[in-house]
Amino acid sequence: MAWVSSARKRSPWLLHYETGGCNGCAIEFVAALTPLYDLERFGMLNTGNPKHADILVVTGCVNARSGRVLRNLYEQMSEPKVVVAVGVCACTGGIFHDGYNLAPGADKVVPVDLYLPNCAARPEAIIDALLTAADLLAETRRRDQHAHQRAPDQQG
Ligand code: SF4
Repeated sequence: MAWVSSARKRSPWLLHYETGGCNGCAIEFVAALTPLYDLERFGMLNTGNPKHADILVVTGCVNARSGRVLRNLYEQMSEPKVVVAVGVCACTGGIFHDGYNLAPGADKVVPVDLYLPNCAARPEAIIDALLTAADLLAETRRRDQHAHQRAPDQQG
């Protein structure tokens, strides 16, 4: 049904995980959810449950411990899913990139679809990245649906 696809396109649920930075980007993400920026006006909802989430928002530097948690959260999310690295720490490790206990970027632990390399990432930029993530999610769903519909023909 077209209206269901249309509604789902703009109503992805978000899971935020702060892997261990200065918390600057994490605070800006929370600011994006406040009435001032009102991320929810786009139909997005922040959830604490990876099984309910469509978009994983990663902030901070990934270290050995947080990397294991990040991977675990990612694996609990159902397909299709999109990962957004918010802030230069999540993108590359930032100023901590050569730290002895850090992975230089979240993409060393989970596949990252979108990078927002600011320090700190402003709420407006986070909202823009999440709208792009929602488009990417909708496109992936459409492609999966198309492939699923074509599968019986290919079998015959
Ligand atoms: S990118 Fe900057 S603001 Fe964001 S967590 Fe790293 S140091 Fe903090």
